Amino acid sequence: MDGYQEIEKFFSETGLLSEKYPDFEFRKSQKEMAIAVADILEAKSHIFIEAPTGIGKSFAYLVPAILFAKKNKKKAVISTCTINLQEQLINKDIPFLQEVLPVGFRAALIKGKSNYLCPKRLKKVLENANTLFETEEKICLEQIYSWSKVTNDGTLSDISFPVKNEVWDSVCAEKGICTNKTCGNIKDTECFYQKAKYNASISDVIIINHHLFFTLFDGLKKKDSDGYLYNNDFVIFDEAHTIENIAASNIVPSVSREMIKYYLLKLYNDKKKKGLLLKYPALHILPVIQNLLDLNEHFFSLIRRRFFKHPADADPQLTVRIFEKNMFENMLTAELINLVENLKTLRQFSKDDLDENQLQDFVLKFSEINYLIDNFIGQKNLAENQKFVYWIELSSLKPGANVSLSVSPIDISGFFRDYIFKENNSCILTSATLSINGNFDYYKTRLGAEVCSDLRLPSPFDFYNQVKAYVVKDIPVPGRSDDNEYKQKLIFWLNYFIDMTGGKALVLFTNSFIMKAIGTELKNLLDEKGIRLLIQGEGDSSRNLLKKFRKDVNSVLFGLDSFWLGVDVPGEALSNLIITKLPFLVPVHPLIQARLEYIDENGGNSFMDYSLPESILKFRQGFGRLIRNKKDSGILVILDSRVLTKSYGKFFMNAIEDCRLEII
Ligand code: SF4
Repeated sequence: MDGYQEIEKFFSETGLLSEKYPDFEFRKSQKEMAIAVADILEAKSHIFIEAPTGIGKSFAYLVPAILFAKKNKKKAVISTCTINLQEQLINKDIPFLQEVLPVGFRAALIKGKSNYLCPKRLKKVLENANTLFETEEKICLEQIYSWSKVTNDGTLSDISFPVKNEVWDSVCAEKGICTNKTCGNIKDTECFYQKAKYNASISDVIIINHHLFFTLFDGLKKKDSDGYLYNNDFVIFDEAHTIENIAASNIVPSVSREMIKYYLLKLYNDKKKKGLLLKYPALHILPVIQNLLDLNEHFFSLIRRRFFKHPADADPQLTVRIFEKNMFENMLTAELINLVENLKTLRQFSKDDLDENQLQDFVLKFSEINYLIDNFIGQKNLAENQKFVYWIELSSLKPGANVSLSVSPIDISGFFRDYIFKENNSCILTSATLSINGNFDYYKTRLGAEVCSDLRLPSPFDFYNQVKAYVVKDIPVPGRSDDNEYKQKLIFWLNYFIDMTGGKALVLFTNSFIMKAIGTELKNLLDEKGIRLLIQGEGDSSRNLLKKFRKDVNSVLFGLDSFWLGVDVPGEALSNLIITKLPFLVPVHPLIQARLEYIDENGGNSFMDYSLPESILKFRQGFGRLIRNKKDSGILVILDSRVLTKSYGKFFMNAIEDCRLEII
């Protein structure tokens, strides 16, 4: 049987999947996707596949990828955005396929290096615990030590007790610390990271996340190589709608006040009288650290005062774009250079390789910080085909908020064109939402993916019978948070539609002020009806809110940004999806502004080419929360009359599947 026949048979009504998979349902789209993946791998080319919820897309790419990898001695790299999907792949889908596929294969999950415990560092830190930590931290260290004796993979997520960040950061594997000399041969090493790397090197399938993929890829990227992370791999990006932003954020690291302070205090913390430097004859360096701590505070508070409005002023911003070079000076440079030179002189006092590597790691870190600040100020980031945007960002409006300097390429289509969609390689991008009104032009343009073919698979759900949509005409165009008429209408209609389903509603907002204001007014009203209102940002984590929402079937959940995407609540608890406002981008963030300008400068139309497609895709993702399986049914409510009154409104309605519609 050749590969295609094997795939056809596997997904057929009487194939292996039907025999072995509980609750198997034959899905034509699943088979079609699997064959398309097999085709593209054979052809060494690239494809976008839109695979709606419910078609079983993970098996549809895993099976052909595994068969192709085994036959051609290649590696399949599967990159995802969320941990949930990684866990599903490594704990559920792959073990199932390892049992049922006729070929044996190995799979490994790789995480960022700092997720792994470094036994060498742990040993060192245990020896020096008194100079590094206070009592509570020492208790945590002891717990980590006991855990290290029983853990299988040595990663942070395997720990069941609370771990203090500063303790984990002292014992985890880190870039720059390891050499082969320090930790010996793979056969007898105790190193969890080396074992994980080795495991990956002998595996046929590697599971990774997008952040780590682009971080590792940055050091390896070559236009003419046969592969991405390995010499002979191909890559499948699941949740591919997120890769543009993730790739852009990994190209240039940010530098912040708290990050500099954190590393300085790791060297020496005068309050606690703890730190790495106590192991060295370094008394003369302690004043340099203190001076840098003061300068760091001063430097970033000057930046905040100069570029940001007072939080009490009208319309305070969290970001400020820096258009010109040399708007301020790098006040830290002389002392950072001084610190680096001093640290270098301590190397001779290191007791062993590990100590020396650790010190060298600080040398590299502080040199990099200095370099990043200089590059930010002088706007020196240069790369082939890339323009950059520079901005300063506050973590919040609070007085002590962190301040960071950030840089990002404005357009990364050149990067993707050259390094991802290169000849003789295969890259498969899949997600439930990649097309707009039937075509993939938007993502193809954003990602320089002109050479990619595409496939759009139909949904297995019967939306016409499963969904009734209501669009409310009698509501003003969404306005400012102080627009009382709008607020009162919103409250009226929310109450009306929540009553229609007796709760069980996910209500999606785009503005936290409006969400909180409406929540405050509706809470008592819903309480009286025995409906619990859960609101994002009121103390509970998103994960906890979702747990409560699933469990209390009649509850109502108000959510912002993250709830438009990752929510998976099949069944009665989510029978009513209310979209309060079309999710248009608010172009206050410098990166968004720069992208819009860039499109206009290059002859495009930033609204039609960027703002509108982005918001249609988000609207589709929001809509995707409602129907999660064939048994689900419910109502979709749109409380933004612009879908009816504006010329672009039809694009939103056309972007979702056909369902019964009533205009109110
Ligand atoms: S190779 Fe050695 S230094 Fe590096 S993480 Fe492993 S045990 Fe630690």
